[in-house]
Amino acid sequence: MNTQLIERLWLAFFPRRCVWCTGVTAPTEMLCPDCAEEGEKSRYACRGDRPRSPANCHPNSRATETVAPTQVLIACFVYHSRARRILLRLKFRGKRNLAHSIGYAMGDALREAGYCDDDLLFCAVPMTAAQVKKRGFNQSELLAKTAARWLGCAHATLLYKARETEVQHDLPAPQRAQNVAGAYAVIAPEQVAGRRVVLCDDICTTGATMQACAHMLEQAGAAQVIRLAFLRTEVQAKKMSG
Ligand SMILES: [Zn+2]
Repeated sequence: MNTQLIERLWLAFFPRRCVWCTGVTAPTEMLCPDCAEEGEKSRYACRGDRPRSPANCHPNSRATETVAPTQVLIACFVYHSRARRILLRLKFRGKRNLAHSIGYAMGDALREAGYCDDDLLFCAVPMTAAQVKKRGFNQSELLAKTAARWLGCAHATLLYKARETEVQHDLPAPQRAQNVAGAYAVIAPEQVAGRRVVLCDDICTTGATMQACAHMLEQAGAAQVIRLAFLRTEVQAKKMSG
């Protein structure tokens, strides 16, 4: 089945929203004409596949950030930008429809970075059952699904979160990896083995959560794990370069 058809049908009834102002935008554009200039300045990426460093980071470049030789991180916008607002509306005001436009933007960022192939398998950073029950949905799962459909790729729930963790940004850097160690597990390793996996999260802050999930996917035999986030903190790129 052509998964892209689902999103095309959706667009016939619900227009794509600008991820900067949530106004209506063209089906092919993540930013409306009014926001294009300002929004483009806050696009997040590092140049090329070179190891990241503050010198490599340039918000207007459209490439990727390399976090390890086989791992890539792609994000749409810097965290401290107006793009945060659409995500807050999705997460805390329950505007689930906005997940489509955010997911499309993530898919577009992946395509622009040159990592879009039919064989990609999308999945999301999981939440615990209690967290999902409280919010009513896992926003990262919604974003992974819509991004996958937008690009005509497969999506599966590959990971689960076995226990609660502390909020990462409240912890000092050395404790972050420890906080998430062992918290995530692969549901069915046979689904992952040999696949190129796109691991989606709404925000990549410390990088430790995605690292913990990517590690489990690699342990299960993933050929590559591409990390895809809507927002990426700028501070972290500088911290991790040191
Ligand atoms: Zn706009």
